[in-house]
Amino acid sequence: MHDLLILGAGPAGLTAGIYGARGGLDTVIVEQKSFGGQASITPEIENFPGIQNIDGFTLTYNMQEQAKALGVSFVYDQVEAVVLEEEIKSVTTKNNGVIEAKTIIIACGAEARRLGVEGEIELIGKGVSYCATCDGRFFKNKPVAVVGGGNTAVEDALYLGNFASEVHLIHRRDTLRASKVLNDKLLSSNVKILWDSVVEGFEGNPLERLHIKNLKTNEMTSIDVSCLFVAVGQDPASSLFLDKLDNENGYILADENMATNIPGVFVAGDIRKTPLRQIITACADGAIAAESAIKYLM
Ligand code: NAP
Repeated sequence: MHDLLILGAGPAGLTAGIYGARGGLDTVIVEQKSFGGQASITPEIENFPGIQNIDGFTLTYNMQEQAKALGVSFVYDQVEAVVLEEEIKSVTTKNNGVIEAKTIIIACGAEARRLGVEGEIELIGKGVSYCATCDGRFFKNKPVAVVGGGNTAVEDALYLGNFASEVHLIHRRDTLRASKVLNDKLLSSNVKILWDSVVEGFEGNPLERLHIKNLKTNEMTSIDVSCLFVAVGQDPASSLFLDKLDNENGYILADENMATNIPGVFVAGDIRKTPLRQIITACADGAIAAESAIKYLM
């Protein structure tokens, strides 16, 4: 029986672990993939205070090491069921049985959203990717495209410019929602931007060509690419909790103490309804959630 069970080892979960352990709680983190979450695959982070520039893998690796050094234990396994309503909270994992704790912090983050174009799923690993940092180097000197207009899409396009022979950014509107810094970097780069455009179809397996539609003129064009990197946002990884926790469009609702509608159940990071999804805000959520768990146990 643990004091605190944290689901997710991204920046929110790792920070919650650090604060929980420092607060004297016997803390365990359960993570189904690898540490670091989405942040760990971010090539360059320039907005984490105190660190001018760092890659996401190093930053989150350091967070994990810090948590381990404080005595946090880690279980890498898939969670198949959760019990939240009882005084003792528990999760059933695929390979490690049931893990119990007096409090729980849900910090499962968000998952890459699919584009929803026919053939997309079949081409995953054969010309469709959701992670430029993971797969970009396979397309050295080859033409690639990114779809999306947010921070991730712009960062991916700039990053891919280091390897690819040419990079196209396909965005459905004529303005980006990415930050001004990234916007300016993109506009002064070699990335070719296709405004007001959507991907209508794929050709080749592995991928050879994209069919693109201009939404303003209805004109159809094709571009030769070896990979399409999809960066059209994320969906909260909250399906296990939606019948139990108040939420809005799948994002879990919490008060300023990160408390949900169930006593002893807290939430932190990108899975929460929040006005800003950044590493720094995920860390802040994690710290507050752990402090709330400590107070709940007093
Ligand atoms: P996002 O900000 O939600 O942007 C998603 C983009 O994809 C939008 O431009 C959207 O178009 C477009 N889109 C959505 N569905 C689409 C579809 N079906 N077809 C074509 N385009 C579609 O997602 P994100 O860029 O992954 O960022 C997620 C969060 O992480 C944000 O809060 C972001 O600020 C944060 N983040 C921050 C940094 C950083 O600060 N360095 C880096 C990465 C991510 P519209 O614009 O038309 O809606």
